[in-house]
Amino acid sequence: MTEASDFRPLPAVTGTPMAHLRSEIPAVFRQMASNWPAVSTWSFRHIASLAPSLPVQLVQGNREKNHTAFTESTLGEYLDSLTGDSLSGESPDRDDRTYLKEFDLLKRFPGLRGDLRHEQMFPRGSLTSCSAWIGPARSRTGLHHDLLDNLAVQIRGRKRFYLARPGTVERAGALSAKYDAWARLSHVGIAELAAADSATSDDFFAVDLEPGDVLYVPARWWHEVVNLSAGILLSGFFGSTMRVTSLWARVRLRDTLHRAGLLSPGNCTCHADRPGAQHR
Ligand SMILES: [Zn+2]
Repeated sequence: MTEASDFRPLPAVTGTPMAHLRSEIPAVFRQMASNWPAVSTWSFRHIASLAPSLPVQLVQGNREKNHTAFTESTLGEYLDSLTGDSLSGESPDRDDRTYLKEFDLLKRFPGLRGDLRHEQMFPRGSLTSCSAWIGPARSRTGLHHDLLDNLAVQIRGRKRFYLARPGTVERAGALSAKYDAWARLSHVGIAELAAADSATSDDFFAVDLEPGDVLYVPARWWHEVVNLSAGILLSGFFGSTMRVTSLWARVRLRDTLHRAGLLSPGNCTCHADRPGAQHR
């Protein structure tokens, strides 16, 4: 595992995200959400109790960089497995952890919206899409960049973000052909990218989030993310109505082509790989 000390620490910013968003530079807003009821009340047990037998699909391992595989569980069974989760006795390279990603928590349980204070955070008039990332220690999202800006809120547990400037993956020739609807992927990890000839140290940052911290990740900034303990993060993708609408039309067109088998068939983050498939 790459150590955070190899990367420059991301500076903490005071004030509101709104004053900072125009810079298009990532920033951490320490404890900005610490007074949100979600941070004090969303235990794994509490979320599980809302619908213990709800079927959930879990992602297995690092699907951005490696194979795409899924496994089925229920919300109750999976969240029970996260209680008391720790790193002890595990190989740091282990990459088979299951991860409940992009979970539509707020649509499933609209009552939970009352535990959030998003109005303090998003620019007025923006379209937003919030989903939950719930997983054990060492669950990981491989290096990618999103198409929309993100204001992510750490609700529970600790999480490390490694960030690299726009263009770093492209210069290293590491853009992946693997399809993802709302992101672009790298076929190398952040550690390999940071070691590439084209890399310079001021392209790379790392930040560890604690519950209540908010992180701004601008669109096109590459990031790889790993849980330091079992946790819950709420992503908050947002943009102006015009930007989101035009992007959505493009994303939908590409997704239609993908699902028709005309764009990256069998090489994507949304369909499980066939056994033995090799691609980058
Ligand atoms: Zn797919």
